[in-house]
Amino acid sequence: MAQISEEIINDIRKRTDIVEVISRYLPLTKKGKNYFGVCPFHDDHSPSMSVSPEKQIFTCFSCGATGNVFTFVSDYEHISFIEAVRLLGSKLGYNLEHSTRIENPHQKDLEIYKLATKFYQNNINTALGKNAVKYLEDRKIDRETMKKFEIGLAIQKVSLTDYLKSKNVSLDKMIELGITNNTGNDTFVNRIIFPLYDLQGNIVAFSGRIYNTKDSSKYLNTKETPLFKKRQLLYNYHRAHEHLRKNDYIIVMEGFMDVIRASTVGINNCVATMGTSFTKEHANLVKKMTDNIILCFDGDEAGEEATTSAIKVLEEINVEPKIIRLEDYKDPDEYIINKGKDAFLNKIANAISVIDFKMQLLRHGKNLKDINDISSFLEETIKELTKTKDDIVVELTLRKMAQEFNISYDTLYQKYQQYNKPKEVNQPRPKTIVQNNDQNKTQYEKAELSLIYYMLKDSEVINIVEKKVGYFPTPTIRYLSNEIIAYYHKYGQINEADFISYISDKEELKQALSNILSLNNRPEFNKEQTNLMEIDDYIISINKYVKDKKIKELEQSLRNESDMRKQLEIINEISKIKGVKLC
Ligand SMILES: [Zn+2]
Repeated sequence: MAQISEEIINDIRKRTDIVEVISRYLPLTKKGKNYFGVCPFHDDHSPSMSVSPEKQIFTCFSCGATGNVFTFVSDYEHISFIEAVRLLGSKLGYNLEHSTRIENPHQKDLEIYKLATKFYQNNINTALGKNAVKYLEDRKIDRETMKKFEIGLAIQKVSLTDYLKSKNVSLDKMIELGITNNTGNDTFVNRIIFPLYDLQGNIVAFSGRIYNTKDSSKYLNTKETPLFKKRQLLYNYHRAHEHLRKNDYIIVMEGFMDVIRASTVGINNCVATMGTSFTKEHANLVKKMTDNIILCFDGDEAGEEATTSAIKVLEEINVEPKIIRLEDYKDPDEYIINKGKDAFLNKIANAISVIDFKMQLLRHGKNLKDINDISSFLEETIKELTKTKDDIVVELTLRKMAQEFNISYDTLYQKYQQYNKPKEVNQPRPKTIVQNNDQNKTQYEKAELSLIYYMLKDSEVINIVEKKVGYFPTPTIRYLSNEIIAYYHKYGQINEADFISYISDKEELKQALSNILSLNNRPEFNKEQTNLMEIDDYIISINKYVKDKKIKELEQSLRNESDMRKQLEIINEISKIKGVKLC
């Protein structure tokens, strides 16, 4: 299958005008060099989004959304980056219908995971796999489902490590990928193997489940690798994406077994976090798919807490999810096995609002016959209600409470207005978000962001950074800087808009880059020329931070060290870093 190369992506970007494309979606007005419009990515009332014809990027100075023409179309249309490339390419006469995405730099590693998956799948189909198949079939996972989710089996008798060795995969590589442990043996033994996928549907890890003993550690996962970062991945994202066209909502669950179970009854628009809490990255991923998000976490108290914290994460990006609670059932898996498809569809149809969920929580431990408890319940609920943007929800909830507790609606509404006031005054003003963030940042963090900003503007700064910056203390910034340098060495130049395409499959970097590009909206940054003295100051500030940190660490180990000779060594090292000569 043909692949869309970076060259083609860059060509489409260069021949497409971002101002013209965004104008198809919303009106833009020219002010000075740039165009302005109402931002579609937050609840915007004044034009907060600027579009630069010169840089071919957009930035919102209120919510911080930023990107190039592809990311705009992909976010606006809820399609993937590569679909946006196809769409805009087709207008230029490119036929990319049957082309897949750009070649993944980890292609070789992905091939190894594929080989391993085939090996595990083969095992489950042999006589040695009988017990595992029976176990799965007892749990109503039929052959078709096993095939669909590529479920396999790790058995003691045949070693995956040996098999991969015969395919010329080095032991170091297998250890690096988490397939083999440090002693050179298979990571998974006697476990049913569930491949875990990245956002594009590549297998990037495994989860092994015990099936023939009552071990407490039911699941064992491959360790985190550059390909397998749980914070950024959602199980089944690639398939759920396709089913979205039929049902415009997505259900977020806790475990991949829940997703597989839902699929066995024909519900395919589900994703799962894989053994980690719901992160900001997850929130952005699902928001990109649809605004209709349903949280269906485990039925226990931990699941309730996970729901509360996921709501918080989603509220920060202006998404109000719906919620399904499973009462006495452990998880969606168990619920569907016991109650069946129709009961679960009914749950989906009757998913409750955030405020109803919070009211359920607020009822816990209160005696709602007691006047004091009623009063604090009403008070707490009204406070929560001020977070809702939907006026209808506010009115309906107040009316419901008025009826339940026999209080007049007007009294409750007055109370609501009392609490809602301060928020009205603090309506999100443009620029506040970016600036507030700034105040909390320490000097070296500001220097890091500023340096990356200038690296993207001026290749001279890339050269200086390569020569003078030891390393960036913040891991994401370090990663970003490495990618910029790699990009520069590959293309001999740097271009913000193309660089955005270059990292389009790296969620972590996209987030970081957003913060940096929104500096564009600040007068102190948006200058014609780079000031090299300013660059020097940033570098000094970062190197000083790294040096001070190292000294602090050494001083700490000096305090813990009792051996005189080693103490001397540490003192020597500290002096060297400080640049002091000892006599
Ligand atoms: Zn915005």
